[in-house]
Amino acid sequence: MSTGEIRRIIIIGAGQAGGETAQRLRQGGFEGDITLIAEEPVAPYQRPPLSKAYLKGDLDLDRLLLRPPAVYAEERIALLTKTRAVWIDRANRKVRIEGGRELPYDALVLATGAKPRRLPLVGADLEGVHLFRTAADVDRVRERFASGAKLIVIGAGYIGLEVAAVARQCGLDVTVVETAVRPLARVTSPEVAGFFLDEHTRQGVRFVLGGQPAVIKGAERVTGVGLTDGAELPADLVIAGIGVTPDVALAEQCGLTVNNGIVTDRQCRTSDPNIFAIGDCAARPMVHFNSQIVRLESVHNAVEGAKVVAATLTGKTHAEEAPWFWSDQYDLKLQIAGLFHGYDHVVFRGVIADRAFAAFYYKGDRLIAVDAVNKPGEYLGAKMLIQAGKTLAPDVIADTSRPMKELVASAR
Ligand code: NAP
Repeated sequence: MSTGEIRRIIIIGAGQAGGETAQRLRQGGFEGDITLIAEEPVAPYQRPPLSKAYLKGDLDLDRLLLRPPAVYAEERIALLTKTRAVWIDRANRKVRIEGGRELPYDALVLATGAKPRRLPLVGADLEGVHLFRTAADVDRVRERFASGAKLIVIGAGYIGLEVAAVARQCGLDVTVVETAVRPLARVTSPEVAGFFLDEHTRQGVRFVLGGQPAVIKGAERVTGVGLTDGAELPADLVIAGIGVTPDVALAEQCGLTVNNGIVTDRQCRTSDPNIFAIGDCAARPMVHFNSQIVRLESVHNAVEGAKVVAATLTGKTHAEEAPWFWSDQYDLKLQIAGLFHGYDHVVFRGVIADRAFAAFYYKGDRLIAVDAVNKPGEYLGAKMLIQAGKTLAPDVIADTSRPMKELVASAR
């Protein structure tokens, strides 16, 4: 089907990826019907502040919305909230929603996101044990998120560490239990992870690294977490941030190719040419990762997918941007560009002890990623280099006597 023949587009999932797709389709001049199916009761909102300002109580849900709710009607985007898509009929190009109604499509976009992993433990359903994915999850946490409360965070990924930082700022007593021997193992190097471990420890967070939770204790409410080595940690509140799994249920039901995410081509097209997949649920070949198929869980990836699909469906093209991420913990802003996987050496610009430095990751002589802590100039410079496929010799990048801007200008 050519783009001119597409009259009806359905988007399943109204997170950042789905919400942005609807908006960008209209901005790109698509005049036909757009239906955006949202399982949650609200219009699309940003998730990153959930484990930061929203948990702290500094932002209301209204401020997280991608766009004011009235805009959807103004732009003729049918936003169906509290609605679950339950079946895809590829042969007849229809989506069935809970209750039995069937909606026809010419093009379908799966932006189903990811589901938080549940603790596979006895007691995981006790009151006071929380997952952390939606605004409603955080609202439940906030009821008991009070100074002096004993919080056990399970998992030392971004959720775990961002929650720990806010909790310490709010006066909670915090212990983080992580199965790996260091925090942030999935997303950064031992050196940068060690820096964050030291910072949290200095702020009063206790860590149990290499610790394996065995049971959540309590009668109705949680009272503690038992570890496999027999230790027991008292708790008023438990928050699990132990990763996510891509939500591929609908894709599997209708027989699309799935392999740690719904597999797509560069245009985000699945094994069915009328169905696209973007965001946390999808895996595609990335220009900036040697065209290997990867699944990224990030805001940038969600927005990038939305841009690609909106461009493809309106007969345009989109030049892929190098991936980027960020995390805020205390007064530290970690900004990441590129993907560090497979790096063979790391070079530091600045001194870790100054709490403002950047780690540049190399594979051979090629710069592939940067982690910048309180160094926005280094982050931006490295991002431009990675985007352009340029590099700088390690001794050049480590030379802080020359400003980053000047180095970037001299790169090849
Ligand atoms: P994550 O980054 O995958 O980290 C989860 C951590 O929990 C991993 O270190 C994991 O170790 C550990 N873990 C797994 N099972 C465990 C267990 N039973 N007991 C103790 N530790 C366990 O995921 P997340 O922090 O939950 O974040 C969820 C999603 O939200 C991710 O997509 C993340 O990128 C996103 N997020 C991003 C940001 C940001 O970019 N700033 C902020 C918040 C959330 P193993 O790897 O060894 O299993």
